[in-house]
This record gives sequence, C-alpha cells and structure tokens, in this order.
Amino acid sequence: MTRITNLGFPRIGAKRELKRAVERHWRGESDAAQLQATARELRLRHWRLQREAGVDTPPSNDFSLYDQVLDAAFGFDAIPERYRALADADPLAGYFALARGHQKDGIDLHALEMTKWFDTNYHYLVPELQAGQRFALRDDKPVREYLEARAAGIETRPVLIGPVTLLWLSKTVDGSDRFALLDALLPAYAELLARLHAAGAQWVQIDEPALVLDLDATARAAYTRAYAALAQGPRPQLLLATYFGALDDNLPLAASLPVDGLHVDLVRGREQLDAVLGALPAGRTLSLGLVDGRNIWRTRLDEALVLARYAIEARGDDAVWLAPSCSLLHVPVDLVHEKALDAELRGWLAFARQKLDELRLLSDALADPNAAEPALAQAREAIAARRASPRVQRSEVAARVAALDASATHRTSPFARRRAAQDALRPLPLLPTTTIGSFPQTLEVREARAAHKSGRLAQADYDAFVATQIEHCVRVQEAIGLDVLVHGEFERNDMVEYFGEQLDGFAFTKSGWVQSYGSRCVKPPVIYGDVARPAPMTVRWSRFAQSLTDRPMKGMLTGPVTVLQWSFVRDDQSRADTCRQIALALRDEVTDLEAAGIGVIQIDEPALREGLPLRRADWAGYLDWAVESFRISASGVADTTQIHTHMCYSEFNDIIEAVAAMDADVISIETSRSRMELLDAFVRFEYPNGIGPGVYDIHSPRVPDVEEMTALLHRAAELIPVAQLWVNPDCGLKTRGWPETQAALEALVEAARRLRAELPATRAA
Ligand code: GLN
Ligand code: ZN
Repeated sequence: MTRITNLGFPRIGAKRELKRAVERHWRGESDAAQLQATARELRLRHWRLQREAGVDTPPSNDFSLYDQVLDAAFGFDAIPERYRALADADPLAGYFALARGHQKDGIDLHALEMTKWFDTNYHYLVPELQAGQRFALRDDKPVREYLEARAAGIETRPVLIGPVTLLWLSKTVDGSDRFALLDALLPAYAELLARLHAAGAQWVQIDEPALVLDLDATARAAYTRAYAALAQGPRPQLLLATYFGALDDNLPLAASLPVDGLHVDLVRGREQLDAVLGALPAGRTLSLGLVDGRNIWRTRLDEALVLARYAIEARGDDAVWLAPSCSLLHVPVDLVHEKALDAELRGWLAFARQKLDELRLLSDALADPNAAEPALAQAREAIAARRASPRVQRSEVAARVAALDASATHRTSPFARRRAAQDALRPLPLLPTTTIGSFPQTLEVREARAAHKSGRLAQADYDAFVATQIEHCVRVQEAIGLDVLVHGEFERNDMVEYFGEQLDGFAFTKSGWVQSYGSRCVKPPVIYGDVARPAPMTVRWSRFAQSLTDRPMKGMLTGPVTVLQWSFVRDDQSRADTCRQIALALRDEVTDLEAAGIGVIQIDEPALREGLPLRRADWAGYLDWAVESFRISASGVADTTQIHTHMCYSEFNDIIEAVAAMDADVISIETSRSRMELLDAFVRFEYPNGIGPGVYDIHSPRVPDVEEMTALLHRAAELIPVAQLWVNPDCGLKTRGWPETQAALEALVEAARRLRAELPATRAA
C-alpha cells in the first residue's frame, strides 16, 4: 500500500472544544491542569481519528494552545526580556502573556504583534528577536507530545517549523539581520532533534513554507547552512515540507538540502511534479500534496491518481507518500456535523476527515484499481453532478461577465469633474467629518438578532427594533455634528455573511469553524455557484435612514475582493471570475442605492491587500482583476454620486498605484496608531482623490481628546492638501461602547472645527 501521510490536523476540535477550554482558563474558571487535560484529550482524539482513517504516522506537535510559531519561539527561549520574569515563574501565564498581553497584579504587558500566516486567514505571533539573541531548548513540547502519543500506542511524526522559516517569520526589534541569528539558533534545533531521536521518533517533519517565496541570496545561503548543520548530529529522518505554492526557482535549492524526504504542494503547484522528479536525488522520499488543504471541495481523484502513478513509476512505490497539500489546519474538521446542509451540496464537499478518506481511497486505488472502482465512480459522479448543477452554472451570470467591457469599469468623468459635480450638489465644509459605518453592536443588538434568528422574535418586531436603533444612531450623529452620516449596520451580523446570505451561490455551514488566531475561529461562507443578486440587499435600511435626516446618508457595502477573500471559493473557475460575478451583483446594489436617493456610497475593501499572491511576479495579475472588480462595482453611478472605500491595517507603499487605480472619490484608512506614517505612500504618490486618515484608534477603549486629534489632523494637513482631507475614525465602531464612541466623536468633530477655523482656504463649492 502506498503510504498516507498528513501534515497537520485542525487542533481546535469539531465543536471548538479547545477554544472553550482556553477561554475558560483565561477567565480563571479552570486551572492549568484542567486546560492541559482537555488539550491531551483533543490530541488523542485526533491521532486516533487519523489512524482510523488510514494515516500511517500522524503528525504530532501540530497541536498548540495558541499558535505554533509562538510555541517554537517559546520553546527555543526567544522570549523578550519583559516577559521573562513571568514566564520563569509561571510558564503557561508567560506563554499566554506573549500571545495576548497580561494585565494583572501590577504587571502590564502588551502582546506580541500578530500577522497573517502566508496567504491564509490564520494569524501567527511574530517572534521578537534582536542582535546577539540567545537561544536554548527551553521547552521540549515536541518530545513530550511524541511520548504522549507513544504511550497511547501511536507512533507519530513530530512537526517542527524549520529554522529558516522561523527566522523569516520573525522580526528584529533593532533592525538587525534576522538571518545573522541562524548560527545561534541551530544548536537548539540540533538538540531538539537529538532528543526526538533518543525518544524513538523515526521521522520529523520540518516545515519550510518559506521555500515557496521569493528568496534573496541571504535566505538561500541560510538554507544551505542550516540543513548542512542539522544533517549531522543524531537525528530522526527529516521530511522537508513545502506548501502554499510551487518551489519554482527554489527547487534546486530544496532538492540539494541533505534531508531524507521532500513534501511538495501539487494542488497549487501541479506543474512542478516533473521538475521535482527530475531534481530530487535518488533515495529520497517524495510526499505528494494531492488533496487541497486550503479549500473544502472534494478532490478530483482521477487527476490525483494520474500524478501519483506518474511519481510512483519514476521513484518506486516505497519512496512515494500521499498527502494533503498542506496542514489541514485551514479547513473544518468533519462534514458529519453539517446536518443542515442540503444533501446535494454536502456531496460536493470534503472537510479534514473526508480529505483523509480521499487519500485512503487513492491509496486503495493504487493497490487495486478494480476493487476501488465503485468508490472512485461515486466520487466522479459527485464531481460531475456539481459541474452540471443548475445551482452552479447560470448562463445569464456567465454571459454578463463575458460581456464586461471598458464602459463597465470606468466612471463617466475623471475625478476632478466628479468632485466639482459632487460639491455643487452636496456642499460640505472643509475637512468633512464621517465614520466608517458600524456603530456599537451592543449586547441588546446581538440578543435581538439571535432571538430573531432562532424564531423567538417575529420579523416585524425585529424590524421595529432595527429601525429604533438606526433612528437613535442618526440622532446621535446629528447632535454630534457629523457631516456625512451612516445608519450604523445594526442589522448585520458580519460584513461578509450579511451579503452572502442574500446572494445566490453562497452556502453557510453550521460548524465549519476554522482557527483564525488563538481561540478565535471563523466560519467562512462557501461560494459554490454563480453569484447573483435576487433582490436589493441594503436599500431598505439605507433609504429609511436617509428619510430621517437632511444630511447625506452614506450607503454601506462590502466590496467584491473582501467577500471573495473571506470565503471558501470555487475551484472550478478562476478567483478573478468569481470576483467579477460578486462585483456585478454589488454594482446593481450600488445603482439601486443611487436610485433610492443615496448619493454617498462606501464599498469597503479591507481585504484587498491580504489577497496579494505570495510571489511578487503574480502581484500585477492579481491587482489587475481586484481593482477591476472594485471598479465594476463602483462605476455604474452618475458623477454626482460619491463613492467611498475603506481599507484598514494596510501597508500602502507597494500597492499605491492599484489603490489609486480604484479611483474611489474618497478613501478612508487606518493611520492613528502609526501617527500618520501610513500616509507616506499617498504623499509620495501625490494621491489625487479624497482621503480620510483615521484620527481615532477604535481598537482601543481609550478616548482620545481634542488636542490629540487636532495634532493628528495638523500632521495630516502638512502632508496632504487640505481640500482632499476627510476626518474619520480608523475603522468601524461596532466593538466599542456608546459612551466612549460618543465622547470620541464629539472630540473628532471639535478637532475638525478647530482646524477649519485656523485654515484660510474654504472648500470649493
Ligand atoms: N463598514 C465596516 C464597519 O464599519 C468596515 C469594517 C472593516 O473595515 N473591517 O464595521
Ligand atoms: Zn476597517
């Protein structure tokens, strides 16, 4: 039998047991021993599940109480000085302090910075290093978990983040070269490998996903040096795991490293198989990533079989393993919990458990094609049914995308002309004030929504409740003196789900949870079919809100790229085409809002930047269709209609041209924490359109005062012509409470007034 292997299993538990246990511990409702007991139970359950599914040597140390990168940094003693006393006194408290800060008993520690794990929606903690950093094997968690599994009769393959990827993911606080720390780090790795060897581990999986990125000479040299060193000591056999893309120009490097096996991603890097077979020295094991670890569709097994047979022919049955493309961390645990999904749709999906079953079927088919044929035929039928389903293919949607031309992606007039028309129709003061959309989602709001969803609150009563919330929100904004109002988004659960639920082509799972960071999980919508909008989605509440006031009411939409980026997307057409379909549905919404008298419409694209491909060479292609999609959504309106967009937490320097090409009349961005540093890109580029640099950090309960916001506005006005500037918070206010929101917005409006009084110029009208 061809061996089945797995790179990692979702650790959170099908019912989010780990989330619950960790949060209970944080609330002080359970001690460390109780938390560890739940953790152990989950590990054992997942190892057993994988063994039952036919996985030969399941991974261990893929478990984490918070994050695997933090585990590695902590284990190698890369603990910044400020956490050390706590970590020495109470390792678990120290570990969680690094993860999420610590405010107790006179200790006040910030958390480490968090950022996205490659191009996934998983976030890791960024290790903080510095020149002269020392490493040591502080915690041998990988050994402990290996022994734990062995005690339960299960031989596992410990997973370690490779040293070069670990350094690549880290930052140095003093700006020194991360890779200069490699020599200091390697002895700690060598010791860990020696201990795993002594404990009896046959194989260790060393994850080096950085090998699919653009690497400079320093990083390449680090690889050569690191693996030459690690190859030496007593150690288990090493499986070098690469994923999230093809090795491409790094293939010769990866193949040259003195390890015992190589895992390659054949889902995203299908074309690399031939080159890999040619480059990998004889005697090395090759692990084939055939089943998509990043998405939830059933695998096209016939195609996977062709690849597997081809590889086996070249290298022999013993030297080839079958695997998912990457760790299954990025997909939900098990489809059996989706009782509410209709059977047809369920038949198209595979979660972690089903993906292992697929690998098993591949292995069976390689061993005995005839015996496996009935199961293969069934899988084939499911895929054919999906392809042919009228729920998936809708000719009118495809036809509309095919008919898109330049007229659909351009506003009628250039910005300057639009600006004049907008000012004439809707005169606003210099430095107009507005907010990003949502207002506090109080317990009351969330309870009403939950009651409505479960049927305890009748539709009419819920609607009346939402109307009251909107009315209150409008009155508050009027009293504060904001210039462009919003309705507050009280009717929305989530900025993607709210739209997905009203669009054709989207499905929602009951427990399709995926870890986003720490104990936070998300349930991404599934885009399974051509996207269409059966009816207007936001017009009703926007129109109602506008009817309450004479001031402009801003319509509020989530942009096409963000909807795409935060969903599981189709694998049977390009992301670009799915994005264009969403864009067309939103375009209709935008023109309907305009027709309903909404003259200012914001299309949020907070996820635009995170969609950037891992390889620089692919950026332009992505940005082309991403910007085009935004423009499809935004371009159906008259010159007098003002289109806003909003992007938070973005570094704009390397994408400023694309941001400008979106051609929104106004963009609002997050800038208050960085004290306007993020404006640099706009300044250098001489960004021509309206721009609202956030002056109120909504990620903190702190209320900034008038002086503070005035200072930020002064800074902005030094950098950007004042006629272009808007005044707004960094992001939506839904996580804030009413009192602090009100106080902060009053100060914001006052700061704008002070600046207006100081400035001689008046906004052209
Ligand atoms: N309009 C959304 C809000 O105000 C934007 C949220 C976001 O940028 N993530 O909540
Ligand atoms: Zn935002």
